[in-house]
Amino acid sequence: MAQIDALPPLREVIETHGIAAKKALGQNFLLDLNLTARIARAAGDLTQCDVLEVGPGPGGLTRGLLAEGARRVLAIEKDSRCIPALEQIAAAYPGRLTTINGDALEVDPLAHLTPPIRVAANLPYNIGTELLVRWLTPADWPPYWTSLTLMFQREVAQRIVAEPGSKAYGRLAILAQWRADAHIVLDLPPEAFVPAPKVSSAVVHLTALPAPRYPADAQTLSHVVATAFNQRRKMLRSSLKGLSPEIEDHLVAAGIAPTDRAERVALEGFCALARSLHEAG
Ligand code: SAM
Repeated sequence: MAQIDALPPLREVIETHGIAAKKALGQNFLLDLNLTARIARAAGDLTQCDVLEVGPGPGGLTRGLLAEGARRVLAIEKDSRCIPALEQIAAAYPGRLTTINGDALEVDPLAHLTPPIRVAANLPYNIGTELLVRWLTPADWPPYWTSLTLMFQREVAQRIVAEPGSKAYGRLAILAQWRADAHIVLDLPPEAFVPAPKVSSAVVHLTALPAPRYPADAQTLSHVVATAFNQRRKMLRSSLKGLSPEIEDHLVAAGIAPTDRAERVALEGFCALARSLHEAG
């Protein structure tokens, strides 16, 4: 295997800095630097970009991103045990790696980044979906990021790219596909991680579209879809009745049969329904 840098192997880094994996922090580390370089390549051309990485851990993906030429990496890590290991990487790539010891749900990364910005992360599973929804639902579009390259449990990855009519289709598919292109670019078995999780994983690459595929108010769409899929087996006239006393009229105006179920309605239909409800106030 080719060496991607002159830093010590990740097993040695973990041993030196005492970074035994903690389940509560969602720590399943990638120790194969060729694999992390591959994930970094899936993020696209990094040479003109700043990269936001959430949860660098001992720095496997961080090293991949830097070796693949990222202009700058901002890495936000909650576990202070990882900081000395990340400082060692920063010293090997002068001026290109900034580390923040903090909670990615609370830190505002924008103060430290210059566009164009790509996001790449092997996310802690417990906050992965929440971060994705935040990245997909800013008040203004296009967002600050041009692409997201993110590791998820395979089941979550499938929900992001799911099509209408499938079991995995729901709120994540609609929010992701409304304003981005989303593809699974890599599948990984449990053994790719240390320790090995119980489930398989996949890397999803999302590219922000310049404008949403169909017009709709983001908050209304998000609320409609969350309500519709909360009771996905019910007919929409029943699952959505709390949204408006005239819900059947709104469904018909949007071209949706009131007796349909949420999983059969395509993105265009949900956007039309959100517009109809939003216009009615
Ligand atoms: N990127 C490393 C890799 O690929 O080997 C580690 C990935 S591990 C799945 C997730 C990382 O996210 C851990 O290092 C964990 O400490 C960190 N983490 C967990 N919760 C976090 C949070 N709220 N904010 C920032 N980092 C967090």
